Formats: sequence, C-alpha cells, structure tokens
Amino acid sequence: MATGAPVISRTETLAKYLALDQKGQIMCEYVWIDADGETRSKSRTLPEKEYTPEELPVWNFDGSSTNQAPGENSDVYLRPCAVFPDPFRGSPNIIVLSECWNADGTPNKYNFRHDCVKVMDTFADQDPWFGLEQEYTLLGGDGRPYGWPTGGFPAPQGEYYCGVGTGKVVQRDIVEAHYKACLYAGVKISGTNAEVMPAQWEYQVGPCLGIEMGDHLWVSRFFLARIAEDFGAKVSVHPKPVQGEWNGAGLHSNFSTRAMREDGGMKKIEEAIKKLEPHHAECIAEYGEDNDLRLTGRHETGSIDQFTWGVANRGTSIRIPRECAAKGSGYFEDRRPASNADPYRVTKALLQFSLA
Ligand code: ADP
Ligand code: MN
Ligand code: MN
Ligand code: MN
Ligand code: MN
Repeated sequence: MATGAPVISRTETLAKYLALDQKGQIMCEYVWIDADGETRSKSRTLPEKEYTPEELPVWNFDGSSTNQAPGENSDVYLRPCAVFPDPFRGSPNIIVLSECWNADGTPNKYNFRHDCVKVMDTFADQDPWFGLEQEYTLLGGDGRPYGWPTGGFPAPQGEYYCGVGTGKVVQRDIVEAHYKACLYAGVKISGTNAEVMPAQWEYQVGPCLGIEMGDHLWVSRFFLARIAEDFGAKVSVHPKPVQGEWNGAGLHSNFSTRAMREDGGMKKIEEAIKKLEPHHAECIAEYGEDNDLRLTGRHETGSIDQFTWGVANRGTSIRIPRECAAKGSGYFEDRRPASNADPYRVTKALLQFSLA
C-alpha cells in the first residue's frame, strides 16, 4: 500500500461518539414483526424518563414498503406493547416492541399478538407457563451453514451437539453476545447450547407467563438478527436448512398450567395431550412454514401426518420429560413447531386446543 492512507479503527472511532452525552433525551427503537416473520425497527427521540408501553406514543411506518399495507393506504400504526432496556445503545435508551394496526382501527393481518392476548386473558386463571427452545442456523456469505466446506460437507453428525472446540462449533462469539444482550434487557433467556447440525445453535426463553412468552421470544429474535449484523453474519430460522442426513430446526414449546405443576398434575398433562390429538392439523397450520420438510419422523421428529406422544421419546409430536413422569407433575413439550413459527400463534394454539 503506497497511498499512505491512515489506518482507521472504526470501533475506536465509533466509541468516541457513543460516549457522548444525550442531553436528557433517549433513543427509542420501535420493533415490529413484518409480513415475512422478520423483525423491523426504527428509532425516535423522546425525553428521558422511565416509560410504560401506555406512556409511549403510537407511531407509524410505511406499510407499502413492508408488504403490510397497500400503497394507496400505506400507514400502519405501531402501538407499543412491551419495553426493554436497549443492549446496543445501553440504558437509558429503550427497545419498544409494538403491535401493528391498520388505519381503520383493525389489527394488521400480520399482528398475531392481538388475538393471542385475548386467548391468554381467557385462560389467565390457569397460570399458563411456556418455555420455548429457539433453534437457528448461522450462514456464511454463500448462504450455506457457516464454516461448511465449499462444495462439500462436514463430517456426519455426532460430535457437534453441545460441542466444544475448533471444528465442532463456529461463531460462539455471536451466541455469547446474544446471551448477554438478553440478560441485559431482562429477556428471560434460560440457556443456550450448540445443536446437532454444525453451525446450528439453540437458546431457550422461559418459563414465561402468558403473553410474555411471545414478547420475549420476538425481542430475542430481534437481538439475534441485530447482533449477527454487527458480526457480518446471517441467521436462518428455516426449519430444514440442509436436505439429507442433517437435523432440521425447531421451536420446541414447553407448556404447563398451575394444575399440571401441582402434585398429581400428570393427570392434567395427559388430559391436555388427549385434547390436542384431534387438533393435530390445526396445530400444524399454526406451527410455521416448510415444516413438512422437517417433520419426517426422522432426525428426532415425529411425522407431520401423525399425532404421537411418549415419555422421554424424541421421535414423537409430544414428549413428557422423564423427570416429570417420575415426579408425577410438571409440563409437556410440543416438539412440532418449526424454528420459524410465530410464538404468538403457537402459544395461542396450545391454550385453545389443549385446554378448551
Ligand atoms: P430439551 O431437553 O428439550 O432440550 P431445554 O432444557 O432445552 O429442553 O428446554 C426446556 C424448556 O422448558 C426451558 O425453556 C424451560 O424454561 C421450560 N420449562 C421448564 N419448566 C417448565 C414448566 N413448568 N412449564 C413450561 N415450561 C417449562
Ligand atoms: Mn420517509
Ligand atoms: Mn433444548
Ligand atoms: Mn434442540
Ligand atoms: Mn426440546
């Protein structure tokens, strides 16, 4: 390099500006869910104070640019529904999860939270808890799982699940950053692990009460996309990122009511599973796109055509964890939801079809 151009550290240069005083103002990042089940966001300035969702202004965006509204009537309104500390800009800046509403006062077509809240309210006296296991795949620039050899495949599955060491896992820095960001923001992340397919990871959120489940999972997904952006990586929540002898990605959904958690709760768990059975197809319709590619009855899944359940069996639709069966109470795991499922649709279906 003969140009003599100075070497500039973008990190150091940015840090100089991020340290500046905000003069009593905060940045509020409004986050919403778009027509493709991806998060979008934009920022606005408000006077510094602690805000509840009700105290935050309703805002809007151009829905014709996100396929959420027609061009001739393009305003979609953002109604704040949950507030979190912002792990990217730091407190007192905030993340504002918002519901999408049409100009005529009806919920937007892609606002699945609105109906979920109604069902959560109906069953609120049963104290529904959810714990979701979000699996995802990190992709390289070529759109294949990160670190997979060009034109080839890694060694068969076996050493990657909960793996430690070079050649077994990749991009742990993203996983660690995401974990910390969730803790900082008060998102109820409960753990994380490397998955069976190389470049695939999982984290769990929960137990969460009622509507909090969907809210926290969506914010955790926003964080993951945003952190991957910082690292120049890409996240896929496709349920079968690679065809063949490779595990797909799910959103295992663990569920209990107060009665299931109390002594003798196994009877309630079995009742709930029996009620779910005739609603198999309706559940599958709520459980994500392209799930037929994943629910093959192989690679730790049940078949998409059949409702099955068992204790400690990972080849079924529903699994009762061994320790719950032994204790006679606890929760059950619906293994059917795909990694790209909307948690508002999944938790709503679980309540409607297993309790009503
Ligand atoms: P797995 O063995 O299927 O990989 P994980 O440890 O990944 O299980 O996830 C278990 C999930 O179950 C966690 O998200 C946890 O929050 C959730 N969970 C634990 N107890 C309950 C409960 N009583 N009701 C609902 N969810 C629960
Ligand atoms: Mn503009
Ligand atoms: Mn898990
Ligand atoms: Mn898993
Ligand atoms: Mn699981």
